[in-house]
Amino acid sequence: AVDRTEEIQTARLGLPVVGEEQKIMEAIHNNSVVVIWGATGSGKTTQLPQFLFESGFGSPGSPNPGLIGVTQPRRVAAVSMANRVSQELGQHAEKVSYQIRFESTASKKTAIKFMTDGILLREIADDFALRKYSIILIDEAHERSVNTDILIGMVSRIVGLRKSLSKEDPSVKPLKVVIMSATLRISDFTENPSLFRDGAPPLVQAEGRQYPVAVHFSRRTQRDYVEDAFRKVSRGHRKLPAGGMLVFLTGQNEIRQLSKRLKQAFKPTQREDTTQAKVQLSANEAPLEAEDLELGGTEMDNAGHDDYDSDMEITGLDDAEEDEGFELAEGEEAMDSSTRVHVLPLYSQLPTKEQMKVFEPPPENSRVIILATNVAETSLTIPGIKYVFDCGRAKEKQFDLFTGVQSFQVGWISKASANQRAGRAGRTGPGHCYRMYSSAVYESEFAEYTDPEILRTPIEGVVLQMKSMGLHNVINFPFPTPPSRQGLAKAEKLLKNLGALTADGQVTPIGRRLSTYPLSPVAALAVGDLFVPENQLDPNNPLPTTSKKQVDDDSDSDSDSNKRKVYTNADRLADDEREQRTKAYARAQRLFSKHDDTSDALKSLSAICAYGYASDGDAFSEKMFLRAKAFKEATQLRRQLTDIVRSNNPGLVPAYEARLPEPSQKQIKALKQIVTAGFIDNVAIRADLAPVPPENPRAPRRAIDVPYLTLFRSRDGKGQDLQERAVYVHPSSLLAKLTPKEMPQYITYSHLQQSSASLVSDQVPKIRM
Ligand code: ADP
Ligand code: MG
Repeated sequence: AVDRTEEIQTARLGLPVVGEEQKIMEAIHNNSVVVIWGATGSGKTTQLPQFLFESGFGSPGSPNPGLIGVTQPRRVAAVSMANRVSQELGQHAEKVSYQIRFESTASKKTAIKFMTDGILLREIADDFALRKYSIILIDEAHERSVNTDILIGMVSRIVGLRKSLSKEDPSVKPLKVVIMSATLRISDFTENPSLFRDGAPPLVQAEGRQYPVAVHFSRRTQRDYVEDAFRKVSRGHRKLPAGGMLVFLTGQNEIRQLSKRLKQAFKPTQREDTTQAKVQLSANEAPLEAEDLELGGTEMDNAGHDDYDSDMEITGLDDAEEDEGFELAEGEEAMDSSTRVHVLPLYSQLPTKEQMKVFEPPPENSRVIILATNVAETSLTIPGIKYVFDCGRAKEKQFDLFTGVQSFQVGWISKASANQRAGRAGRTGPGHCYRMYSSAVYESEFAEYTDPEILRTPIEGVVLQMKSMGLHNVINFPFPTPPSRQGLAKAEKLLKNLGALTADGQVTPIGRRLSTYPLSPVAALAVGDLFVPENQLDPNNPLPTTSKKQVDDDSDSDSDSNKRKVYTNADRLADDEREQRTKAYARAQRLFSKHDDTSDALKSLSAICAYGYASDGDAFSEKMFLRAKAFKEATQLRRQLTDIVRSNNPGLVPAYEARLPEPSQKQIKALKQIVTAGFIDNVAIRADLAPVPPENPRAPRRAIDVPYLTLFRSRDGKGQDLQERAVYVHPSSLLAKLTPKEMPQYITYSHLQQSSASLVSDQVPKIRM
C-alpha cells in the first residue's frame, strides 16, 4: 500500500482518471494494447504509472516484475512528471526515476522510469524485446512526433515478439502497451490494421472535467504578435484579478524579448537558483532527442497567407477595444498596482533545471507570467494558471518535398492546438483565454489538426535512424501514418550515395555518426536566405532596417512623383543614393567571394565568419547587406552544432569560438569537396555538354538562361522537351555573373526552387538552382 499525504489524496480524488481506475486497469488486464484518451490535466501521466505500481507492476516477484516505462516527447516533461509521481508515491518515492539525454536517476530500486522517447528507441536498438520492461506507456501520442510514431510501430511488433518468447520461456513475460493521448485524433493507431495485428486496441476514455474558459478573440490579427502580447499581457496584469498567466509564443528569441520588456515595464521578482545532483551519462549513451536544435525564422511564411491581410493591422487599437475581455466580474478585484511580476521562460532549449522553475510556487505578492512555446500545450500542467494568451502560431518543422528544403517556420497552429492552449486556463478554476487572432482567421486559416511530423520531415533522417536501430526492412515498417514507399526507397538510395549505408543497406561508421546529429543528412545549407537580394536594394522598397513608418512615408512620396513625372532634385538624389548603394552592394559581394568567386557555399561561409568578428552584428549586417535575423540564427545554429560535435567527441573538439582564422587554400579545397559529397544527389550538367545534348538549342545570352539537366532527375519532367527538363542558375548565385560560355560543365546545388510566376503570362516559370 502507498501512504499518501492528505493533500495529495485530495488532489488525486479530483482527477477524472482516478475515477476510471477500475475500468482502465480492467482494460489493461484483458488486452495487450490499450489506448487512453483524457483531456490535458485529467491525470493520465501522473496517475496511470501509480495504478500499475499499486497493482504489482515493476515489483520483483510479482507476475509483472519488469519496469513500468513511460515515454515523453520532451525532456522537461520526463523530469517533472518523475518528480511529481515520486512525491505522490509517499514512502515509495525512490522507486521513481527518469532518464533523459546525458542524465539519469535510475537505480536498482527503480520501478517506474520516465524517459524521453529517444531514450527508449535507443534501448530498443540494444534489446529489441525490451525485456527490462513489463509495460510501456507512450504518452502524448496525439503530438505525433516522429519518435512517437516510430516507437508505436516498434512496440506493436515487440508485443508479438514477447508473446512468442514467453511461450518458449515462461520466465519471459508478455509486454503490455498503453498509448495515451490528449485529443481524440487516434484513429491512425486504433484503425490501422498493419499496426496491431490482434485487432483494434480498446479505447478507454477518462471523462475530462474542466472549469469553463472564456475565450476572447481579437477583433484584428496583428502581424507583430510579440508586441501585441506585450500590450495585452501588460494590460491584463494591471486590470485582472490574481492568477497566473501563460503566454504562448513560438521561440526563445521572442520569449527573451517579451521577458525583458515585461521586466522593464513592471517590478520583477528575484529568485535564487536551486541545483540538484544527477548522474551524468556519457555522450555516446545519449540518444537523439527532437529538441536538440531550435532554429528558423520568426516571420510568418508569407506564401499562401495573404488572405488574412484584410484582417491585419499595423497600428495600435483604440483603448475601448483593448479593454474587451479585461472587464472585472462581480466581486472581482484587480491586483494591487505594485504587484511584482514573476516572469519565467519555458522552452525546450532552456536547461531542464530552469524549465522546472515553473512548478515552484511564485514569491508572495507576485503574479507568475510564464512565457512558453508549445512545450506548455499538453505535456505540462502548470499550477495556478488562470489566464492564457495565445499568439496562435507555432514554429514547426516544414519540409518541401519538391525542393528538399527543410526549414522551421512560424505558421498557424491547428484548432485542436488552440483548444488545448485555451484549456490550460481552466485547470484550477474558471479562466480566460485571450487569442491574439480574430475568429475569422481561426476559421479560415487553422486546420483541424496538425499533420504528423513524419509527413513534414526529410525522410532520410528517419530512415537512417531506423537503420541504425537495426531495422532493415524500413519499407514494410508499420508506421501509424506511412510516408510514401517511393520516398522511402529514394531516401535509402541517397543514404547509400552519401556513404551512410552500404550497398546492402547496413549502416556504415559515417552513417552512425550522421545519425547522432539532429539534422537531415543534407540540411547543412538550409538556414534560409542570408543575403539581401540585389533587386531589393531600391530605396523605395523596404530595406532590412527601415522601420514601417518610413516605408509608408516613402511610398507616399513615390506615388506623388509618379503623378508629376518631372525629374526633380529629389529624384536626382534618389538616383545618386541608388547608385551608391548598388556600388556598396557590389563591394560587399566581392569581399565575401574573395576566396572563391564561383562558390555560393563558400560565400555564405565567408559572410558567417566575418559576422563572427563584428562587434555589432546588426550594424554589420546593415552595412554589408546581410539579413540580420538569418545571421543570428546561423550563429545560434553554429553554436549548437559545435556543442553537439563536442559532446559526441569528448576532448577532441575545441570550445565554440566566434572568430575563426581565414581558411587556407587547402581547407577551401576540402570544403568544396565536402559540399560536393554532401550534395551528391544534387548535381546538374550543362545541357549542351551532356552525353545526349538536346537538339538545336538556342544560344543563351545570359548565364541564368543556360539550361542544365539534373543527373538524378530530382525534377520529374516527363517530356523530351528541354523546356520541361531543364533547370537554371538562380540570379542570386555568383555563377549568374559569368558569361554563358564560362558556365561550368557541372554544378552542385543545394536545392531547386520554382521561380515565382513570370510577368509575361505565357512563360512557364523556370526551375532554378
Ligand atoms: P495529464 O497527463 O492527463 O495531462 P497530469 O497527470 O499531468 O495530467 O496532471 C494531473 C494533475 O496533477 C494536474 O491537473 C495537476 O493538478 C497535478 N499536477 C501535475 N504535475 C504537478 C506538479 N508538478 N505540481 C503540482 N501539481 C501537479
Ligand atoms: Mg500528460
